[in-house]
Amino acid sequence: MKQQDLVVIGGGAGGLVVASGAAQLGLKVTLIEKEARLGGDCLHHGCVPSKTLIHAAKVASLQRRGAEFGLAALDAKADLGKVNGYVQRVIAHIQHHDDPERFRGYGCKVLFGAPHFLDPHTIEIDGAMLRARRFVIATGSRPAVPPIEGLAEAGYLTNLDVFSLARLPERLVVLGAGPIGVELAQALARRQPGDDRRDGRGDPAARRPGGHGAAARAPRSRRHRNPHGHPRAARAHGVRRQDRGMPAHR
Ligand SMILES: Cc1cc2nc3c(=O)[nH]c(=O)nc-3n(C[C@H](O)[C@H](O)[C@H](O)COP(=O)(O)OP(=O)(O)OC[C@H]3O[C@@H](n4cnc5c(N)ncnc54)[C@H](O)[C@@H]3O)c2cc1C
Repeated sequence: MKQQDLVVIGGGAGGLVVASGAAQLGLKVTLIEKEARLGGDCLHHGCVPSKTLIHAAKVASLQRRGAEFGLAALDAKADLGKVNGYVQRVIAHIQHHDDPERFRGYGCKVLFGAPHFLDPHTIEIDGAMLRARRFVIATGSRPAVPPIEGLAEAGYLTNLDVFSLARLPERLVVLGAGPIGVELAQALARRQPGDDRRDGRGDPAARRPGGHGAAARAPRSRRHRNPHGHPRAARAHGVRRQDRGMPAHR
């Protein structure tokens, strides 16, 4: 039976840092990921797709505002399928940095599969047993669906599917106005020429400082809930809801 110093379960941002750091310090490390690819939420469903979507939305907004910079303004109508295609290409590009070979190069063994514990120091994965002095569980999180009556029947989006939508919903409700909810709402609200300012200015709630909650409805779609709310981080993103076409509701 193989004996390791450390087994890290979960190949997302947390697990990758721990595994590569420990291996470079000279420990015998095995990293185990249950999905086919390393990278976890940050690469596949979180930081990378959200920041890429924001970038595309900003480019669209700048194109429309070209006249402000002495340039011809462009009619930047968004085809969300194409924008999300760009998002997926960026993910694929960054995936090279999370190549298992890179971590093997640091001295980690990298295994794919879902292990289970046989005792506090032994796991089994795909019929093989592995012993270790220490285990790090870095298996991340999944979207929490809030207990809202009717939500299950109405359907909703989460971060697991919003970045691969083929079509922009006409209306979308974002539940949760922390940084993730706000950035998603801003990026999607910057979709259509002329839409940006009109909606927000028409709604007094949008002008209320510190107004919480964002709303819009996506017919036959699923809704997104932001579990990571932090108003200061939202301000750090430079978001002004009323300037970005987002009615806000308490
Ligand atoms: C929309 C969105 C935007 C975000 N933007 C930012 C941002 O701009 N900046 C920022 O710092 N953070 C951001 N975050 C948060 C960031 O994505 C998370 O904090 C980060 O991904 C957490 O990393 P983790 O390693 O703890 O978990 P995860 O990334 O979830 O990784 C866990 C890994 O464990 C694997 N796993 C699960 N169970 C098992 C098992 N039984 N066996 C083996 N493997 C298993 C999973 O497949 C996954 O690969 C954002 C999140 C979201 C949703």
